[in-house]
Amino acid sequence: MAQAQSTEADWVSRFADEVIAEGERRAPGKTIVVASGLSPSGPIHLGNLREVMTPHLVADEIRRRGHEVRHVLSWDDYDRYRKVPNGVPGIDESWAEHIGKPLTSVPAPAGSAYPNWAEHFKAAMVEALAELGIEYDPISQTEQYTTGVYREQILHAMKHRGDIDAILDQYRTKDKATGQPKKPQQKQQKPLDEAELEAAEGSGAAAEDDGSSGGAGYFPYKPYCAACERDLTTVTSYDDDTTELAYTCVCGHAETVLLSEFNRGKLVWKVDWPMRWAYEGVIFEPSGVDHSSPGSSFVVGGQIVRKVFGGEQPIGPMYAFVGISGMAKMSSSKGGVPTPGDALKIMEAPLLRWLYARRKPNQSFKIAFDQEIQRLYDEWDKLEAKVADGTVLPADAAAHSRAARTAAGELPRTPRPLPYRTLASVVDITAGHDEQTLRILSDLDPANPVKTLDETRPRLDRAQHWILTQVPAENRTIVRSTPDAELLASLDDEGRASLRLLLEGLDEHWSLDGLTTLLYGIPKVLAGLEPHAKPTPELKAAQRAFFVLLYQLLVSRDTGPRLPTLLLAVGADRVRELVTAP
Ligand SMILES: [Zn+2]
Repeated sequence: MAQAQSTEADWVSRFADEVIAEGERRAPGKTIVVASGLSPSGPIHLGNLREVMTPHLVADEIRRRGHEVRHVLSWDDYDRYRKVPNGVPGIDESWAEHIGKPLTSVPAPAGSAYPNWAEHFKAAMVEALAELGIEYDPISQTEQYTTGVYREQILHAMKHRGDIDAILDQYRTKDKATGQPKKPQQKQQKPLDEAELEAAEGSGAAAEDDGSSGGAGYFPYKPYCAACERDLTTVTSYDDDTTELAYTCVCGHAETVLLSEFNRGKLVWKVDWPMRWAYEGVIFEPSGVDHSSPGSSFVVGGQIVRKVFGGEQPIGPMYAFVGISGMAKMSSSKGGVPTPGDALKIMEAPLLRWLYARRKPNQSFKIAFDQEIQRLYDEWDKLEAKVADGTVLPADAAAHSRAARTAAGELPRTPRPLPYRTLASVVDITAGHDEQTLRILSDLDPANPVKTLDETRPRLDRAQHWILTQVPAENRTIVRSTPDAELLASLDDEGRASLRLLLEGLDEHWSLDGLTTLLYGIPKVLAGLEPHAKPTPELKAAQRAFFVLLYQLLVSRDTGPRLPTLLLAVGADRVRELVTAP
Protein backbone atom coordinates (compact mmCIF):
# COMPACT_ATOMS: atom_id res chain seq x y z
CA MET A 1 0.00 0.00 0.00
CA ALA A 2 0.98 3.60 -0.45
CA GLN A 3 2.66 5.03 2.56
CA ALA A 4 1.06 8.01 4.23
CA GLN A 5 2.88 11.06 2.89
CA SER A 6 2.77 14.58 4.12
CA THR A 7 2.49 16.02 0.63
CA GLU A 8 2.88 19.61 1.73
CA ALA A 9 1.33 22.08 -0.62
CA ASP A 10 2.80 21.21 -3.95
CA TRP A 11 0.60 22.13 -6.92
CA VAL A 12 -1.10 18.74 -6.93
CA SER A 13 -2.00 19.01 -3.28
CA ARG A 14 -3.39 22.52 -3.71
CA PHE A 15 -5.63 21.45 -6.60
CA ALA A 16 -6.77 18.43 -4.59
CA ASP A 17 -7.82 20.77 -1.73
CA GLU A 18 -9.73 22.92 -4.17
CA VAL A 19 -11.42 20.01 -5.97
CA ILE A 20 -12.48 18.30 -2.73
CA ALA A 21 -13.98 21.56 -1.43
CA GLU A 22 -15.76 22.17 -4.73
CA GLY A 23 -17.09 18.60 -4.72
CA GLU A 24 -18.50 19.11 -1.24
CA ARG A 25 -20.19 22.31 -2.37
CA ARG A 26 -21.66 20.91 -5.61
CA ALA A 27 -22.56 17.34 -4.68
CA PRO A 28 -21.85 16.48 -1.04
CA GLY A 29 -20.91 12.88 -0.42
CA LYS A 30 -20.76 12.01 -4.13
CA THR A 31 -17.84 10.52 -6.04
CA ILE A 32 -15.57 13.30 -7.31
CA VAL A 33 -15.24 13.35 -11.11
CA VAL A 34 -12.17 14.60 -12.97
CA ALA A 35 -11.87 14.38 -16.74
CA SER A 36 -9.53 14.22 -19.73
CA GLY A 37 -10.31 14.08 -23.41
CA LEU A 38 -8.21 12.64 -26.22
CA SER A 39 -8.91 12.55 -29.91
CA PRO A 40 -7.44 9.43 -31.58
CA SER A 41 -7.09 11.28 -34.89
CA GLY A 42 -3.59 9.90 -35.41
CA PRO A 43 -0.63 8.88 -33.25
CA ILE A 44 -1.24 10.48 -29.84
CA HIS A 45 1.68 12.84 -29.27
CA LEU A 46 3.74 12.76 -26.10
CA GLY A 47 2.72 16.39 -25.56
CA ASN A 48 -0.90 15.27 -25.08
CA LEU A 49 0.07 13.15 -22.09
CA ARG A 50 -0.31 16.26 -19.94
CA GLU A 51 -4.04 16.21 -20.70
CA VAL A 52 -4.25 12.90 -18.84
CA MET A 53 -1.38 13.24 -16.36
CA THR A 54 -2.64 16.49 -14.79
CA PRO A 55 -6.04 15.15 -13.67
CA HIS A 56 -4.46 11.78 -12.88
CA LEU A 57 -2.06 13.30 -10.35
CA VAL A 58 -4.85 15.32 -8.76
CA ALA A 59 -7.21 12.30 -8.69
CA ASP A 60 -4.48 10.16 -7.19
CA GLU A 61 -3.87 12.67 -4.40
CA ILE A 62 -7.62 12.77 -3.70
CA ARG A 63 -7.68 8.95 -3.62
CA ARG A 64 -4.69 8.90 -1.24
CA ARG A 65 -6.74 11.03 1.12
CA GLY A 66 -9.44 8.37 1.12
CA HIS A 67 -12.05 9.98 -1.15
CA GLU A 68 -13.92 8.25 -3.97
CA VAL A 69 -12.78 9.68 -7.29
CA ARG A 70 -13.48 8.81 -10.90
CA HIS A 71 -11.14 9.87 -13.72
CA VAL A 72 -13.19 9.95 -16.90
CA LEU A 73 -11.11 9.62 -20.06
CA SER A 74 -13.29 10.64 -22.95
CA TRP A 75 -12.13 9.17 -26.25
CA ASP A 76 -13.31 11.69 -28.82
CA ASP A 77 -13.56 8.94 -31.39
CA TYR A 78 -16.85 10.21 -32.85
CA ASP A 79 -15.06 13.38 -34.02
CA ARG A 80 -14.70 13.82 -37.75
CA TYR A 81 -11.59 12.62 -39.52
CA ARG A 82 -9.94 15.92 -40.48
CA LYS A 83 -6.81 15.10 -42.42
CA VAL A 84 -4.50 12.32 -43.43
CA PRO A 85 -1.54 12.63 -41.05
CA ASN A 86 2.02 12.53 -42.34
CA GLY A 87 4.42 9.75 -41.58
CA VAL A 88 1.92 7.09 -40.53
CA PRO A 89 2.90 3.69 -41.94
CA GLY A 90 0.26 1.63 -43.74
CA ILE A 91 -1.75 4.47 -45.25
CA ASP A 92 -1.71 6.38 -48.52
CA GLU A 93 -3.52 9.32 -50.10
CA SER A 94 -6.63 7.17 -50.61
CA TRP A 95 -7.46 7.73 -46.91
CA ALA A 96 -8.43 11.28 -47.91
CA GLU A 97 -11.77 9.91 -49.16
CA HIS A 98 -12.69 9.25 -45.51
CA ILE A 99 -12.33 12.88 -44.43
CA GLY A 100 -15.56 13.92 -42.73
CA LYS A 101 -16.43 10.46 -41.34
CA PRO A 102 -16.32 9.61 -37.63
CA LEU A 103 -12.85 8.37 -36.61
CA THR A 104 -14.39 4.98 -35.80
CA SER A 105 -15.67 4.67 -39.40
CA VAL A 106 -12.25 5.18 -41.00
CA PRO A 107 -10.28 2.02 -41.83
CA ALA A 108 -7.22 1.35 -39.70
CA PRO A 109 -3.79 1.55 -41.40
CA ALA A 110 -2.95 -1.56 -43.42
CA GLY A 111 -1.75 -4.45 -41.28
CA SER A 112 -3.35 -3.14 -38.09
CA ALA A 113 -4.84 -5.60 -35.62
CA TYR A 114 -7.61 -3.10 -34.83
CA PRO A 115 -11.02 -2.69 -36.47
CA ASN A 116 -10.76 1.03 -37.27
CA TRP A 117 -8.66 4.19 -37.21
CA ALA A 118 -9.63 5.31 -33.72
CA GLU A 119 -9.08 1.91 -32.11
CA HIS A 120 -5.70 1.58 -33.80
CA PHE A 121 -4.36 4.83 -32.32
CA LYS A 122 -6.08 4.39 -28.96
CA ALA A 123 -4.34 1.06 -28.42
CA ALA A 124 -0.80 2.45 -28.12
CA MET A 125 -1.97 5.11 -25.66
CA VAL A 126 -3.91 2.57 -23.59
CA GLU A 127 -0.76 0.48 -23.27
CA ALA A 128 1.34 3.49 -22.22
CA LEU A 129 -1.24 4.64 -19.66
CA ALA A 130 -1.25 1.17 -18.09
CA GLU A 131 2.54 1.18 -17.82
CA LEU A 132 2.35 4.63 -16.20
CA GLY A 133 -0.03 3.33 -13.53
CA ILE A 134 -2.84 5.66 -14.63
CA GLU A 135 -6.30 4.42 -13.63
CA TYR A 136 -9.26 5.81 -15.56
CA ASP A 137 -12.76 5.15 -16.74
CA PRO A 138 -12.71 5.15 -20.56
CA ILE A 139 -15.75 6.51 -22.40
CA SER A 140 -16.08 6.09 -26.16
CA GLN A 141 -18.05 9.00 -27.57
CA THR A 142 -18.98 6.81 -30.55
CA GLU A 143 -20.61 4.39 -28.15
CA GLN A 144 -22.36 7.18 -26.22
CA TYR A 145 -23.78 8.91 -29.29
CA THR A 146 -24.69 5.84 -31.36
CA THR A 147 -26.59 4.21 -28.50
CA GLY A 148 -28.58 7.34 -27.70
CA VAL A 149 -27.06 7.97 -24.28
CA TYR A 150 -27.16 11.75 -24.88
CA ARG A 151 -30.68 11.77 -26.42
CA GLU A 152 -32.21 14.13 -23.84
CA GLN A 153 -29.21 16.43 -23.93
CA ILE A 154 -29.34 16.65 -27.74
CA LEU A 155 -33.07 17.40 -27.80
CA HIS A 156 -32.54 19.95 -25.03
CA ALA A 157 -29.73 21.67 -26.92
CA MET A 158 -31.86 21.77 -30.09
CA LYS A 159 -34.76 23.28 -28.19
CA HIS A 160 -32.43 25.95 -26.77
CA ARG A 161 -30.52 26.53 -30.00
CA GLY A 162 -31.48 30.20 -29.92
CA ASP A 163 -29.83 30.67 -26.51
CA ILE A 164 -26.72 28.83 -27.68
CA ASP A 165 -26.57 30.90 -30.85
CA ALA A 166 -26.83 34.09 -28.77
CA ILE A 167 -23.95 33.02 -26.52
CA LEU A 168 -21.77 32.11 -29.49
CA ASP A 169 -22.69 35.33 -31.21
CA GLN A 170 -21.01 37.39 -28.49
CA TYR A 171 -17.70 36.01 -29.70
CA ARG A 172 -18.29 36.04 -33.43
CA THR A 173 -16.49 38.85 -35.19
CA LYS A 174 -18.73 40.68 -37.63
CA ASP A 175 -17.24 41.87 -40.86
CA LYS A 176 -17.98 45.62 -40.94
CA ALA A 177 -18.41 45.74 -44.71
CA THR A 178 -20.84 42.85 -45.14
CA GLY A 179 -22.35 42.42 -41.69
CA GLN A 180 -21.63 38.72 -42.07
CA PRO A 181 -19.81 36.69 -39.47
CA LYS A 182 -16.23 36.09 -40.44
CA LYS A 183 -13.62 33.64 -39.36
CA PRO A 184 -11.99 34.54 -36.01
CA GLN A 185 -8.76 36.43 -36.52
CA GLN A 186 -5.48 34.69 -36.04
CA LYS A 187 -4.27 35.46 -32.53
CA GLN A 188 -1.13 37.57 -32.37
CA GLN A 189 1.26 35.16 -30.78
CA LYS A 190 4.44 33.28 -31.24
CA PRO A 191 3.89 30.73 -33.99
CA LEU A 192 3.72 27.18 -32.68
CA ASP A 193 6.42 24.81 -33.76
CA GLU A 194 5.50 21.65 -35.60
CA ALA A 195 5.38 19.46 -32.51
CA GLU A 196 3.14 21.96 -30.72
CA LEU A 197 0.82 22.08 -33.70
CA GLU A 198 0.60 18.31 -33.67
CA ALA A 199 -0.16 18.45 -29.96
CA ALA A 200 -2.83 21.09 -30.48
CA GLU A 201 -4.35 18.97 -33.21
CA GLY A 202 -4.61 16.02 -30.88
CA SER A 203 -6.24 18.02 -28.10
CA GLY A 204 -9.36 18.84 -30.04
CA ALA A 205 -8.33 22.47 -30.26
CA ALA A 206 -8.52 22.35 -34.02
CA ALA A 207 -12.13 21.32 -33.68
CA GLU A 208 -13.48 24.70 -32.74
CA ASP A 209 -16.65 24.25 -34.76
CA ASP A 210 -19.63 26.00 -33.31
CA GLY A 211 -22.27 24.68 -35.66
CA SER A 212 -23.74 25.52 -38.98
CA SER A 213 -25.74 28.62 -39.61
CA GLY A 214 -27.47 27.77 -42.87
CA GLY A 215 -30.57 29.39 -44.28
CA ALA A 216 -32.77 27.57 -41.78
CA GLY A 217 -31.00 29.10 -38.79
CA TYR A 218 -28.50 27.87 -36.27
CA PHE A 219 -28.33 24.18 -35.21
CA PRO A 220 -25.85 22.85 -32.62
CA TYR A 221 -26.17 19.32 -34.02
CA LYS A 222 -24.66 17.74 -37.11
CA PRO A 223 -25.81 14.43 -38.61
CA TYR A 224 -23.38 12.05 -40.26
CA CYS A 225 -24.83 11.29 -43.72
CA ALA A 226 -26.65 7.95 -44.10
CA ALA A 227 -25.29 7.48 -47.62
CA CYS A 228 -21.63 8.59 -47.44
CA GLU A 229 -21.07 8.63 -43.64
CA ARG A 230 -19.50 12.10 -43.83
CA ASP A 231 -20.54 15.17 -41.87
CA LEU A 232 -20.77 17.38 -44.95
CA THR A 233 -24.43 17.80 -44.12
CA THR A 234 -26.67 20.82 -43.59
CA VAL A 235 -29.73 20.73 -41.37
CA THR A 236 -32.52 22.29 -43.42
CA SER A 237 -35.38 22.16 -40.92
CA TYR A 238 -36.24 21.06 -37.42
CA ASP A 239 -39.56 20.76 -35.64
CA ASP A 240 -39.36 21.03 -31.85
CA ASP A 241 -42.68 19.26 -31.29
CA THR A 242 -42.24 16.24 -33.54
CA THR A 243 -38.36 16.32 -33.46
CA GLU A 244 -38.47 15.90 -37.24
CA LEU A 245 -35.09 16.90 -38.66
CA ALA A 246 -34.32 17.24 -42.36
CA TYR A 247 -30.81 17.40 -43.75
CA THR A 248 -29.04 17.41 -47.08
CA CYS A 249 -25.51 16.26 -47.85
CA VAL A 250 -23.01 17.42 -50.48
CA CYS A 251 -23.14 13.87 -51.87
CA GLY A 252 -26.77 14.52 -52.93
CA HIS A 253 -28.40 12.47 -50.21
CA ALA A 254 -31.27 14.05 -48.32
CA GLU A 255 -33.57 12.61 -45.69
CA THR A 256 -35.85 13.44 -42.81
CA VAL A 257 -35.38 11.67 -39.47
CA LEU A 258 -36.87 11.80 -35.99
CA LEU A 259 -34.19 13.13 -33.66
CA SER A 260 -35.97 11.35 -30.80
CA GLU A 261 -34.87 8.07 -32.44
CA PHE A 262 -31.89 9.04 -34.56
CA ASN A 263 -28.39 8.08 -33.31
CA ARG A 264 -26.01 9.09 -36.07
CA GLY A 265 -24.81 12.56 -35.37
CA LYS A 266 -23.29 14.67 -32.64
CA LEU A 267 -23.43 18.02 -30.94
CA VAL A 268 -20.86 20.47 -32.27
CA TRP A 269 -17.71 20.62 -30.16
CA LYS A 270 -18.45 23.89 -28.36
CA VAL A 271 -21.76 22.44 -27.16
CA ASP A 272 -20.65 18.83 -26.81
CA TRP A 273 -17.94 19.67 -24.24
CA PRO A 274 -20.13 21.65 -21.77
CA MET A 275 -22.93 19.08 -22.24
CA ARG A 276 -20.55 16.40 -20.99
CA TRP A 277 -19.39 18.54 -18.02
CA ALA A 278 -23.01 18.65 -16.91
CA TYR A 279 -23.76 15.01 -17.80
CA GLU A 280 -20.76 13.58 -15.90
CA GLY A 281 -20.62 16.25 -13.19
CA VAL A 282 -16.98 17.05 -13.95
CA ILE A 283 -15.26 19.08 -11.22
CA PHE A 284 -11.74 19.21 -12.63
CA GLU A 285 -10.65 19.19 -16.26
CA PRO A 286 -7.56 20.98 -17.52
CA SER A 287 -7.05 22.04 -21.11
CA GLY A 288 -4.28 23.22 -23.38
CA VAL A 289 -3.38 26.92 -23.56
CA ASP A 290 -4.94 26.94 -27.03
CA HIS A 291 -8.36 26.79 -25.34
CA SER A 292 -7.88 29.97 -23.32
CA SER A 293 -8.55 32.73 -25.85
CA PRO A 294 -11.81 34.71 -25.77
CA GLY A 295 -14.42 32.72 -27.69
CA SER A 296 -12.52 29.49 -27.17
CA SER A 297 -14.40 26.34 -26.31
CA PHE A 298 -13.54 26.51 -22.59
CA VAL A 299 -14.69 30.11 -22.21
CA VAL A 300 -17.86 29.68 -24.28
CA GLY A 301 -18.48 26.30 -22.64
CA GLY A 302 -18.59 28.00 -19.23
CA GLN A 303 -21.60 30.05 -20.35
CA ILE A 304 -23.31 27.19 -22.19
CA VAL A 305 -23.04 24.74 -19.31
CA ARG A 306 -24.60 27.25 -16.91
CA LYS A 307 -27.26 28.87 -19.08
CA VAL A 308 -28.29 25.87 -21.19
CA PHE A 309 -27.51 22.69 -19.27
CA GLY A 310 -27.90 24.00 -15.71
CA GLY A 311 -24.47 22.71 -14.76
CA GLU A 312 -21.19 24.23 -13.69
CA GLN A 313 -17.87 24.64 -15.38
CA PRO A 314 -15.06 22.48 -13.99
CA ILE A 315 -11.99 23.94 -12.34
CA GLY A 316 -9.93 24.09 -15.50
CA PRO A 317 -6.31 25.12 -15.35
CA MET A 318 -4.62 25.76 -18.68
CA TYR A 319 -1.53 23.69 -19.14
CA ALA A 320 1.53 24.72 -21.11
CA PHE A 321 2.95 22.72 -23.97
CA VAL A 322 5.42 19.94 -23.32
CA GLY A 323 8.20 19.91 -25.88
CA ILE A 324 10.63 17.26 -26.93
CA SER A 325 14.37 17.79 -27.11
CA GLY A 326 16.64 15.75 -29.27
CA MET A 327 14.11 13.78 -31.22
CA ALA A 328 13.12 16.50 -33.69
CA LYS A 329 15.66 15.62 -36.35
CA MET A 330 15.06 11.89 -36.17
CA SER A 331 11.30 12.26 -36.13
CA SER A 332 11.11 14.66 -39.04
CA SER A 333 13.02 12.19 -41.17
CA LYS A 334 10.37 9.62 -40.29
CA GLY A 335 7.67 12.28 -40.46
CA GLY A 336 6.36 11.03 -37.13
CA VAL A 337 6.08 12.49 -33.66
CA PRO A 338 7.11 10.81 -30.41
CA THR A 339 4.35 9.16 -28.42
CA PRO A 340 4.28 8.32 -24.69
CA GLY A 341 5.18 4.77 -25.76
CA ASP A 342 8.35 6.09 -27.41
CA ALA A 343 9.34 7.86 -24.19
CA LEU A 344 8.69 4.73 -22.13
CA LYS A 345 11.12 2.81 -24.34
CA ILE A 346 13.99 5.04 -23.18
CA MET A 347 12.93 5.88 -19.61
CA GLU A 348 11.14 4.11 -16.79
CA ALA A 349 7.58 5.08 -15.89
CA PRO A 350 8.47 6.78 -12.56
CA LEU A 351 10.93 9.09 -14.33
CA LEU A 352 8.33 10.14 -16.91
CA ARG A 353 5.72 10.69 -14.16
CA TRP A 354 8.24 12.77 -12.24
CA LEU A 355 8.75 15.19 -15.14
CA TYR A 356 5.03 16.07 -14.93
CA ALA A 357 4.70 15.95 -11.15
CA ARG A 358 7.51 18.39 -10.44
CA ARG A 359 6.29 21.14 -12.78
CA LYS A 360 3.13 23.17 -12.33
CA PRO A 361 0.75 22.73 -15.27
CA ASN A 362 1.40 26.28 -16.49
CA GLN A 363 5.16 25.67 -16.72
CA SER A 364 6.36 24.29 -20.01
CA PHE A 365 9.23 21.82 -20.12
CA LYS A 366 10.95 19.48 -22.50
CA ILE A 367 11.26 15.73 -22.45
CA ALA A 368 14.79 14.71 -23.34
CA PHE A 369 15.49 12.18 -26.04
CA ASP A 370 19.09 13.43 -26.35
CA GLN A 371 22.15 13.37 -24.03
CA GLU A 372 20.14 15.37 -21.49
CA ILE A 373 18.36 12.17 -20.45
CA GLN A 374 21.58 11.06 -18.70
CA ARG A 375 21.66 14.21 -16.57
CA LEU A 376 17.98 13.81 -15.81
CA TYR A 377 18.54 10.28 -14.56
CA ASP A 378 21.48 11.49 -12.40
CA GLU A 379 19.13 14.06 -10.87
CA TRP A 380 16.48 11.40 -10.21
CA ASP A 381 19.05 9.08 -8.58
CA LYS A 382 20.21 11.92 -6.32
CA LEU A 383 16.60 12.57 -5.34
CA GLU A 384 16.09 8.88 -4.54
CA ALA A 385 19.21 8.95 -2.35
CA LYS A 386 17.89 12.00 -0.48
CA VAL A 387 14.52 10.33 0.02
CA ALA A 388 16.32 7.26 1.37
CA ASP A 389 18.48 9.18 3.86
CA GLY A 390 15.74 11.61 4.89
CA THR A 391 17.42 14.82 3.72
CA VAL A 392 14.86 15.50 0.99
CA LEU A 393 12.91 18.79 0.95
CA PRO A 394 9.11 18.48 1.32
CA ALA A 395 8.21 19.66 -2.19
CA ASP A 396 10.78 17.32 -3.73
CA ALA A 397 9.49 14.46 -1.58
CA ALA A 398 5.97 15.09 -2.84
CA ALA A 399 7.06 15.01 -6.49
CA HIS A 400 9.05 11.85 -5.84
CA SER A 401 6.15 10.13 -4.14
CA ARG A 402 3.77 10.98 -6.99
CA ALA A 403 6.31 9.59 -9.47
CA ALA A 404 7.16 6.37 -7.66
CA ARG A 405 3.71 5.20 -6.60
CA THR A 406 -0.03 5.71 -6.91
CA ALA A 407 -2.78 5.14 -4.35
CA ALA A 408 -2.90 1.57 -5.69
CA GLY A 409 0.74 0.85 -4.90
CA GLU A 410 4.36 1.11 -6.00
CA LEU A 411 5.27 1.27 -9.68
CA PRO A 412 7.73 -1.38 -10.86
CA ARG A 413 11.34 -0.34 -10.32
CA THR A 414 14.80 -1.57 -11.18
CA PRO A 415 16.12 -3.67 -8.25
CA ARG A 416 19.67 -2.42 -8.76
CA PRO A 417 19.48 1.01 -10.37
CA LEU A 418 23.00 1.53 -11.76
CA PRO A 419 23.57 5.02 -13.19
CA TYR A 420 21.85 5.35 -16.56
CA ARG A 421 24.93 6.95 -18.10
CA THR A 422 27.07 3.99 -17.02
CA LEU A 423 24.59 1.52 -18.47
CA ALA A 424 24.41 3.57 -21.66
CA SER A 425 28.21 3.63 -21.98
CA VAL A 426 28.49 -0.10 -21.42
CA VAL A 427 25.80 -0.90 -23.95
CA ASP A 428 27.37 1.56 -26.37
CA ILE A 429 30.63 -0.36 -26.25
CA THR A 430 29.18 -3.89 -26.17
CA ALA A 431 26.44 -3.06 -28.70
CA GLY A 432 24.03 -4.89 -26.38
CA HIS A 433 26.00 -8.16 -26.17
CA ASP A 434 24.58 -9.68 -22.96
CA GLU A 435 27.54 -11.77 -21.81
CA GLN A 436 30.00 -8.94 -22.31
CA THR A 437 27.61 -6.49 -20.63
CA LEU A 438 27.31 -8.71 -17.56
CA ARG A 439 31.10 -9.10 -17.32
CA ILE A 440 31.60 -5.33 -17.33
CA LEU A 441 28.74 -4.62 -14.94
CA SER A 442 30.05 -7.18 -12.46
CA ASP A 443 33.49 -5.50 -12.57
CA LEU A 444 32.05 -2.11 -11.61
CA ASP A 445 31.95 -2.95 -7.92
CA PRO A 446 33.85 -6.20 -7.22
CA ALA A 447 32.87 -6.08 -3.53
CA ASN A 448 29.20 -6.32 -4.45
CA PRO A 449 29.13 -7.56 -8.02
CA VAL A 450 26.10 -7.55 -10.29
CA LYS A 451 25.19 -11.24 -10.62
CA THR A 452 22.51 -11.18 -13.31
CA LEU A 453 21.42 -8.62 -15.86
CA ASP A 454 17.86 -8.88 -14.52
CA GLU A 455 18.94 -6.99 -11.38
CA THR A 456 19.66 -4.01 -13.62
CA ARG A 457 16.45 -4.23 -15.66
CA PRO A 458 14.29 -2.55 -16.86
CA ARG A 459 16.68 0.41 -16.64
CA LEU A 460 19.31 -1.47 -18.65
CA ASP A 461 16.79 -2.10 -21.45
CA ARG A 462 15.82 1.57 -21.51
CA ALA A 463 19.46 2.68 -21.76
CA GLN A 464 20.09 0.12 -24.47
CA HIS A 465 17.08 1.30 -26.48
CA TRP A 466 18.25 4.88 -26.09
CA ILE A 467 21.76 4.10 -27.35
CA LEU A 468 20.53 2.03 -30.27
CA THR A 469 17.74 4.35 -31.45
CA GLN A 470 18.59 7.88 -30.33
CA VAL A 471 22.36 8.23 -30.42
CA PRO A 472 23.57 9.00 -33.95
CA ALA A 473 26.12 6.61 -35.44
CA GLU A 474 28.86 9.26 -35.42
CA ASN A 475 28.50 9.60 -31.62
CA ARG A 476 28.72 5.88 -30.96
CA THR A 477 31.92 4.50 -29.42
CA ILE A 478 34.03 2.12 -31.46
CA VAL A 479 37.01 0.58 -29.69
CA ARG A 480 40.18 0.32 -31.85
CA SER A 481 40.98 -3.18 -33.01
CA THR A 482 44.74 -2.49 -33.29
CA PRO A 483 47.08 -0.13 -31.40
CA ASP A 484 47.69 3.32 -32.86
CA ALA A 485 51.39 2.65 -33.51
CA GLU A 486 52.04 6.11 -34.90
CA LEU A 487 50.65 7.90 -31.87
CA LEU A 488 52.41 5.54 -29.46
CA ALA A 489 55.74 6.11 -31.23
CA SER A 490 55.32 9.89 -31.08
CA LEU A 491 54.89 10.09 -27.29
CA ASP A 492 57.22 12.21 -25.18
CA ASP A 493 58.70 11.02 -21.87
CA GLU A 494 55.77 12.27 -19.85
CA GLY A 495 53.26 10.50 -22.10
CA ARG A 496 55.19 7.25 -21.84
CA ALA A 497 55.48 7.60 -18.07
CA SER A 498 51.75 8.16 -17.66
CA LEU A 499 50.91 5.03 -19.65
CA ARG A 500 53.46 3.02 -17.65
CA LEU A 501 51.80 4.11 -14.40
CA LEU A 502 48.41 3.16 -15.82
CA LEU A 503 49.60 -0.33 -16.80
CA GLU A 504 51.24 -0.89 -13.40
CA GLY A 505 48.10 0.12 -11.48
CA LEU A 506 45.52 -1.55 -13.70
CA ASP A 507 44.98 -4.88 -11.91
CA GLU A 508 45.04 -3.41 -8.43
CA HIS A 509 42.48 -0.72 -9.37
CA TRP A 510 40.10 -2.80 -11.52
CA SER A 511 36.76 -1.37 -10.35
CA LEU A 512 34.83 1.81 -11.10
CA ASP A 513 36.08 3.59 -7.96
CA GLY A 514 39.58 2.15 -8.22
CA LEU A 515 40.08 3.23 -11.82
CA THR A 516 38.70 6.68 -11.07
CA THR A 517 41.31 7.12 -8.33
CA LEU A 518 44.07 5.74 -10.55
CA LEU A 519 43.23 7.92 -13.58
CA TYR A 520 43.03 11.18 -11.63
CA GLY A 521 46.09 10.24 -9.57
CA ILE A 522 48.56 9.59 -12.39
CA PRO A 523 48.97 13.27 -13.45
CA LYS A 524 49.46 14.16 -9.75
CA VAL A 525 52.22 11.61 -9.36
CA LEU A 526 53.94 12.91 -12.48
CA ALA A 527 53.70 16.47 -11.15
CA GLY A 528 55.22 15.36 -7.83
CA LEU A 529 51.98 16.07 -5.91
CA GLU A 530 50.35 14.15 -3.06
CA PRO A 531 47.39 11.92 -4.02
CA HIS A 532 44.96 14.27 -2.22
CA ALA A 533 46.47 17.50 -3.50
CA LYS A 534 44.01 20.25 -4.52
CA PRO A 535 43.80 20.49 -8.32
CA THR A 536 45.60 23.51 -9.77
CA PRO A 537 44.93 24.85 -13.28
CA GLU A 538 48.21 23.23 -14.42
CA LEU A 539 47.14 19.88 -12.95
CA LYS A 540 43.71 20.10 -14.59
CA ALA A 541 45.36 20.75 -17.95
CA ALA A 542 47.64 17.75 -17.44
CA GLN A 543 44.67 15.55 -16.53
CA ARG A 544 42.80 16.67 -19.62
CA ALA A 545 45.80 15.96 -21.85
CA PHE A 546 46.20 12.50 -20.30
CA PHE A 547 42.50 11.69 -20.81
CA VAL A 548 42.56 12.85 -24.44
CA LEU A 549 45.59 10.62 -25.02
CA LEU A 550 43.72 7.63 -23.60
CA TYR A 551 40.58 8.33 -25.66
CA GLN A 552 42.75 8.60 -28.78
CA LEU A 553 44.50 5.32 -28.04
CA LEU A 554 41.28 3.45 -27.18
CA VAL A 555 38.59 4.92 -29.45
CA SER A 556 40.44 7.30 -31.85
CA ARG A 557 38.54 10.36 -30.62
CA ASP A 558 39.07 13.15 -28.09
CA THR A 559 36.08 12.23 -25.96
CA GLY A 560 33.86 9.27 -25.14
CA PRO A 561 32.14 7.54 -22.24
CA ARG A 562 33.65 8.26 -18.82
CA LEU A 563 37.13 6.73 -18.82
CA PRO A 564 36.79 4.34 -15.86
CA THR A 565 33.65 2.88 -17.48
CA LEU A 566 35.39 2.76 -20.84
CA LEU A 567 38.42 0.91 -19.41
CA LEU A 568 36.17 -1.64 -17.69
CA ALA A 569 34.23 -2.09 -20.88
CA VAL A 570 37.28 -2.54 -23.06
CA GLY A 571 38.73 -5.12 -20.65
CA ALA A 572 42.20 -5.21 -19.03
CA ASP A 573 43.92 -7.33 -21.69
CA ARG A 574 42.69 -5.19 -24.56
CA VAL A 575 43.60 -1.98 -22.68
CA ARG A 576 47.15 -3.30 -22.22
CA GLU A 577 47.42 -4.09 -25.89
CA LEU A 578 46.18 -0.68 -27.01
CA VAL A 579 48.31 1.49 -24.67
CA THR A 580 51.62 -0.41 -24.80
CA ALA A 581 54.28 1.22 -26.91
CA PRO A 582 55.83 -1.25 -29.36
ZN1 LIG B 1 -23.47 12.14 -47.94
